[in-house]
Amino acid sequence: MKALQYRTIGAAPEVVTVPDPEPGPGQVLLKVTAAGVCHSDIAVMSRPAETFPYALPLTLGHEGVGTVVALGNGVTGVREGDQAAVYGPWGCGTCTKCAQGRENYCLRAHELGIRPPGLGSPGAIAEYLLVDDARHLVPLDGLDPVSAAPLTDAGLTSYHAIKRSLPKLVPGSTAVVIGAGGLGHVAIQLLRALTPARVVALDVSPDKLRLATEVGAHEVVVSDADAADAVRALTGGLGAEAVFDFVGAEPTVKTAGAVAAVEADVTIAGLGGGALPVGFGGALPFDVSVTAPYWGSRSELMEVLSLARSGAVSVHTETYSLDEAPLAYERLHAGKVDGRAVILPNG
Ligand code: NAD
Ligand code: ZN
Ligand code: ZN
Repeated sequence: MKALQYRTIGAAPEVVTVPDPEPGPGQVLLKVTAAGVCHSDIAVMSRPAETFPYALPLTLGHEGVGTVVALGNGVTGVREGDQAAVYGPWGCGTCTKCAQGRENYCLRAHELGIRPPGLGSPGAIAEYLLVDDARHLVPLDGLDPVSAAPLTDAGLTSYHAIKRSLPKLVPGSTAVVIGAGGLGHVAIQLLRALTPARVVALDVSPDKLRLATEVGAHEVVVSDADAADAVRALTGGLGAEAVFDFVGAEPTVKTAGAVAAVEADVTIAGLGGGALPVGFGGALPFDVSVTAPYWGSRSELMEVLSLARSGAVSVHTETYSLDEAPLAYERLHAGKVDGRAVILPNG
């Protein structure tokens, strides 16, 4: 089969031919319908050989949707022909976090060498994807595969972050979204669907600010050195009750801290390498809580897909063939993707 692989440190990913995978005991084989392209892959591919976390070559793609085409021995609960979205942060299935469905925080995944597809295990940007266990599959139940694929990470990660702050996003409150890309443009819609908060979006690109408005942001602000003052002015000087930073770079985490209201939640989801110090030596208002979450739980993925079925979320996508997948990464790297790039590995 054809697959998109990152093969050489520092080089662009390549479309190559690899052996067709076959499901072992307990595994499910999917024919991939759609696979999303996430900025985290660019962060992974930017790492030097000394700190590169996975074995090469690595088949990319951690947002996948497909059709079940073969079952390994002992698999129950799914059938050939089922269309399903893949829950990506695979865990051991038995530790206390996994028992709660929070496999994204599995206590044993690292020790057992369990890796998400596309982030250590062979990923979804390929004609076929091996899924380690049927529990990682959530039925599409009528959802369009192209818009469902990004919901498994861009949707799930945003949803998990927002869910923590729902109690603070009461009428009259403000939520700030920094970075209106793949994750951010979904986050804006989730905030509009789940809360009465006023949503303020920040980005460096006029196109992304246009998209932010289109998907429901009440206000947009250019993300520069004056952005924090502009957001504070929009809130009568008080700041925002929740701030979601989908860039996570030094300047954006600084902005995130500077726009936080007293008792606000600041969530840093972007992998930009910035850090926001907490403590009485810092400049945050009292009782601000700062967190850096990873992906989301299995039940949260089910909730995101349910919300999408109700029509509350519409992912903006641009589609590419498998042969065009390297171009999708180039465009994402250049900041040119509007919403999410989605690869269609089987045409
Ligand atoms: P993306 O490229 O689609 O979107 C990033 C957006 O940020 C773009 O619109 C870009 O214009 C904007 N941006 C860049 N610099 C900015 C700045 N200084 N101020 C404001 N906006 C700025 O990326 P994505 O796929 O949405 O991913 C966003 C981030 O989230 C990445 O860092 C990714 O690695 C990370 N991520 C984290 C998790 C997690 O579990 N924590 C999961 C998925 C993605
Ligand atoms: Zn991702
Ligand atoms: Zn576990």
